[in-house]
Amino acid sequence: MSTTDNLNQNIKKNVLLSQYNWFNLGGPAELFFKPKDKKELVDILRYSKDKNLKINVIGAGSNTLIRDKGIKGLTIKLGKSFSQIKLLDNETIEVGASALDKKLAYYAQENLISGFEFLSCIPGSLGGAVIMNSGCYGEDISKVFLSLRAINFNGEEVEIKKENIKFFYRKTNLPNDLIITSVVLKGKQSTKNYIDTKQSQMIETKKRSQPSNVKTCGSTFKNPEGEKAWELIKRSHCENLSVGDAKISKKHSNFFINNGKATSKQIESLITKVRDKVLKKTGIDLELEIKIVGD
Ligand SMILES: Cc1cc2nc3c(=O)[nH]c(=O)nc-3n(C[C@H](O)[C@H](O)[C@H](O)COP(=O)(O)OP(=O)(O)OC[C@H]3O[C@@H](n4cnc5c(N)ncnc54)[C@H](O)[C@@H]3O)c2cc1C
Repeated sequence: MSTTDNLNQNIKKNVLLSQYNWFNLGGPAELFFKPKDKKELVDILRYSKDKNLKINVIGAGSNTLIRDKGIKGLTIKLGKSFSQIKLLDNETIEVGASALDKKLAYYAQENLISGFEFLSCIPGSLGGAVIMNSGCYGEDISKVFLSLRAINFNGEEVEIKKENIKFFYRKTNLPNDLIITSVVLKGKQSTKNYIDTKQSQMIETKKRSQPSNVKTCGSTFKNPEGEKAWELIKRSHCENLSVGDAKISKKHSNFFINNGKATSKQIESLITKVRDKVLKKTGIDLELEIKIVGD
């Protein structure tokens, strides 16, 4: 079978994306593809370029609100074959972009490598963690990052090293036309006791301060310099605002929730309401941390 026939056969149409994000929301992907390996990823990107298809990438969908009408063009999600984790030496780990942050944290813990404990608190994948420069409790990906491998939208493999990336608070200057396939990260050898204690303290603090078992994408807005978004939301008396089943968590006012039957439009309306109220009350225009995609 030719490469094109193979792709045509494996590209799915109208795949519901609500199953692939933490809000459990959003319409279908017009076209959807899960490459089984790097070659298939290269092939699909070249194919998409030829056909002028718009490309969207999703990781674990823990930071993404997908609009109700879904996403036009091709949505790519890396499958299990991109989730390998391996030791390069006793402090350096190479990890596939679809591996979950938590898996990596536990792998590092088993191998007595410190620096990855914070990832046990973040529900995304490594690809998403690099794009978002995810972090908590004073740590983030930039602190352990060494390099990444990616396929660009021309279907070419690139390697990008730390010195060629700028990491900022919850963003980087990486180009938009990359699908990260793997990441190399470096921690520090430490003791079991130190890593276990640090990791469980972080997990406990999270449990105390944030809701669990709810449909959310975590912090909706970034913390403005010197401020906490959740405090600004409280100060602006937004905690009890809702739009249909789109609500604000009672435990953490920067966590917006699909309380069962919300639509993406309702979550977005709630975001706009809160943003307007906070601006009026405090003069601060909150910036979104979550990504909103689709039509
Ligand atoms: C309960 C909860 C708690 C959270 N706590 C935190 C926290 O403490 N700290 C924090 O920083 N975040 C937190 N988040 C947000 C979220 O988990 C992180 O932003 C996470 O790193 C996103 O990863 P993901 O794979 O889910 O990305 P997605 O939401 O799928 O995607 C995010 C972005 O990354 C891009 N992307 C994903 N994979 C790739 C890839 N392989 N190549 C290129 N681009 C890619 C997507 O296109 C999109 O632009 C929380 C979320 C939830 C639901």
